[in-house]
Amino acid sequence: MATTDANNVEQLRARVAELESELAELRQAQPASARQRIDRMSAEVVDSNPYSRLMALQRMGVVQNYERIREQAVLIVGVGGVGSVTAEMLTRCGVGRLILFDYDKVEMANMNRLFFQPHQAGLSKVEAAKRTLLGINPDVQIEAHSCNVTTMEGYELLRSRAAEGGLPDGGPVQTLLACVDNYEARVAVSAMCTELGLTWLESGVSEDAVSGHVQLMRPGRTPCFACLPPLVVAEGGDERTLKREGVCAASLPTTMGIVAGLLVQATLKLLLGFGRVSPYLGYSAMTDFFPVESLKPNPDCAEPACQRRQREAAKADAAAAAAATPDSAEQDSSAAAAAVHSENDWCIELVEEGGDEAAAGRSVGAGGGVRTAYSVPAAAADAAAPAAAVQDSGLSLEDLRAQMGRL
Ligand SMILES: [Zn+2]
Repeated sequence: MATTDANNVEQLRARVAELESELAELRQAQPASARQRIDRMSAEVVDSNPYSRLMALQRMGVVQNYERIREQAVLIVGVGGVGSVTAEMLTRCGVGRLILFDYDKVEMANMNRLFFQPHQAGLSKVEAAKRTLLGINPDVQIEAHSCNVTTMEGYELLRSRAAEGGLPDGGPVQTLLACVDNYEARVAVSAMCTELGLTWLESGVSEDAVSGHVQLMRPGRTPCFACLPPLVVAEGGDERTLKREGVCAASLPTTMGIVAGLLVQATLKLLLGFGRVSPYLGYSAMTDFFPVESLKPNPDCAEPACQRRQREAAKADAAAAAAATPDSAEQDSSAAAAAVHSENDWCIELVEEGGDEAAAGRSVGAGGGVRTAYSVPAAAADAAAPAAAVQDSGLSLEDLRAQMGRL
């Protein structure tokens, strides 16, 4: 009996020592924040105010109400080379809530990029990011979800956090940013956001690390990934060939940092209502070229949710047009006012996207030979055949890709 007790005590001591060492490691990995949380953002110009330079945007006339950023929740899918830098910028800007999704771990092979540090190797990317971000700004609510959004459970969790993670009271998140590196995750995010009617931003960097893009995705107004597969600006890249043993995509901290900067700039414009957000903004490092394109959804998209969103957008445009006509303004003022309000809730100015065309079911085809970096599943390809993509510029996808390829 006495021997058993002694053994138990010994085991307990060993376990306590083990836990103490784990705790010490965790404490080391989690820098204590150097400041207390701040209840209200102040414009006071003192060295100790982390928000003075951001609040100065109001005085400079760029932003009407900067503090509004604290009521915004942003969901980031993918916390790699672009997503981690994006998360840091939004944290420093004082966004209200950041919801992070990634299934990967930090590796030494990531150290050519920004944000993660060698001592974090082996940790889950979202957990490591959460610690760093809370150390930078404890005012931001950070949620870390270490899961793969292309699995059934991962997708369900992503969907529920996108639908309920918003501020202030748990509606949809204010926006979602896709910073992923594969087709499946992009398509999953696109289908979910179209279904929820959530405006989101897609980003990407090419496998040769010298070009990238940011794309504004507004369900019903811009193409979903069933209308138009993701545009990847590098020529001839097939990610499946990159997954082979010993072969990997190239990456540069410069291109990833630039794309993250463009992505967060667009996000701030959306969230705070200033400037104009380009529907598609490309970047070619080889020639310092930033192409801007305007893309329209396919009226014959195989995704029913996308077609439904297109009809809603056409209806809202018709109501807004009716409101703008003096004769009809009186008859339908309340409905039109509501429609105008709902269409302007981001306070952004967009290139005309021809809601009338979508309403009339008229399609402006991109011509034959449309080709993207990914192939559309057979059924969707058949349905999309009459008009795979529509662009204001008159350039087909083929032209656009050829243009990027020549850079
Ligand atoms: Zn679509």
